[in-house]
Amino acid sequence: MEHPAEPWPVGEAERVEPLVRRVLAPNPSFFTYTGTQTYLVGHAGGLAVIDPGPDDEEHVAALLAAIGDARVTAIACTHTHRDHSPAARLLRDRTGAPVIGCAALDLEDDGPRSDAPFDHDYAPDRVLADGERLEGDGWTIAAVATPGHTSNHLCFALEESGALFTGDHVMGWSTSVVVPPDGDMAQYLASLQKLHDREDRVHYPAHGPAGDNPRQLVRGMIGHRRQRERQILRLLEEAPQAIAAMVPKMYKGVNEALWPAAGRSVHAHLIDLERRGEVACSAETWQLAR
Ligand SMILES: [Zn+2]
Repeated sequence: MEHPAEPWPVGEAERVEPLVRRVLAPNPSFFTYTGTQTYLVGHAGGLAVIDPGPDDEEHVAALLAAIGDARVTAIACTHTHRDHSPAARLLRDRTGAPVIGCAALDLEDDGPRSDAPFDHDYAPDRVLADGERLEGDGWTIAAVATPGHTSNHLCFALEESGALFTGDHVMGWSTSVVVPPDGDMAQYLASLQKLHDREDRVHYPAHGPAGDNPRQLVRGMIGHRRQRERQILRLLEEAPQAIAAMVPKMYKGVNEALWPAAGRSVHAHLIDLERRGEVACSAETWQLAR
């Protein structure tokens, strides 16, 4: 994936609008682009920290420097992937602020939900349901439930400015990875439609640049997923086949290091199509159901 010509400065607080600053964590990768962006909302009288980021002392030190003497009143997480929520604990220890936002995932069993990318130790002090508000000094943040990338994903709407913090649900640089069984393509598409129906002014994703034209961006993403779905149905019309055979045809020109993740997205589409009675699977071979 190409990086921008001028990467954001790591560890420096940049003001993106009067109420909002952004601090980039030093964790660039194929899946995090230039790294996780933590957002600080508010002023000295009270700050919310959105997506504190990975378990990384350097990043936490940068956040504490940006926070300065301000009081942190909430540490909010969009979801519990390891590049988003682990620093919440470090920041709670240092500031005493509560962790508020998405629910912990139910990881009681050893099933596939408890896979490595998840932050198992995430323990929120308060979970926000869809539409619930968090009020601070001059700001109001409302939770927007957006399951799909993960089942517990929330976006956060800053009501004073019309900004939406989109976490990993909508990112300008890449489509979101949807990994079953916790990731769910039907939910993801419904959550995209939910954002499309909103009137947000700007999107601030956890990775990549702000989105100045949210509705157009989201419409494009919905179209992209529909196109992938049609591509899958066309391939299965030609012949029943396994996901491993479909990915190279669907992701020509895409870096092969991303094919395993692409395969999981294809799987997410197939599960959705199977639920709708369009396809069936036996012994890892997928075929049209009729
Ligand atoms: Zn994520």
